[in-house]
Amino acid sequence: MSMPPMRSFLPRILEPRRLAHQGVAISGELDHAFCDRLTEAVIEIVEPIVAELRFDTAEQGRRVMTGSVSTSVLIPCQRCLEAMSVALSADFRLGIVWSEEEAVSLPKDLDPWLVDSEAADVAEVLEDELLLTLPFVSYHPKDQCNDVAGYSTGEHPAEESAKNPFGILKQLKNSGSDN
Ligand SMILES: [Zn+2]
Repeated sequence: MSMPPMRSFLPRILEPRRLAHQGVAISGELDHAFCDRLTEAVIEIVEPIVAELRFDTAEQGRRVMTGSVSTSVLIPCQRCLEAMSVALSADFRLGIVWSEEEAVSLPKDLDPWLVDSEAADVAEVLEDELLLTLPFVSYHPKDQCNDVAGYSTGEHPAEESAKNPFGILKQLKNSGSDN
């Protein structure tokens, strides 16, 4: 029986400007426990949340974090309501700014990361990036969906679901608990 490869865990809190000044690259796994909002938004996070981060100094001395984050989650198919696996992956390039005014002045290729002290919650940023990639409405491929009738009649429950997709997520999630 082979051992799984070792992967270090990322810290939740780090000092992005100091790391940028030093030109540090770090990679590792983000603890699911740091990602309550993503946990709430899906049925289950089924893969490790893996991130690669590079802290750098760009033009005009701007501090920048470039990176990627990925995982896989189970979300409900909105046609048959059975779970389906979706891979989430985000690439980002963030300008570390002190204020909203500074954020406005960033070049277009940088999204702002507002950090108004030395330390910052990088887990929150990575979770935001993953939440942004969650599909708003999702369906199984036709040959894998359990609601074949929905396909053959051309009915689309999307309109109803789109009003409150998270309501359905919550129902599914709660139906598995004891309360
Ligand atoms: Zn389905």
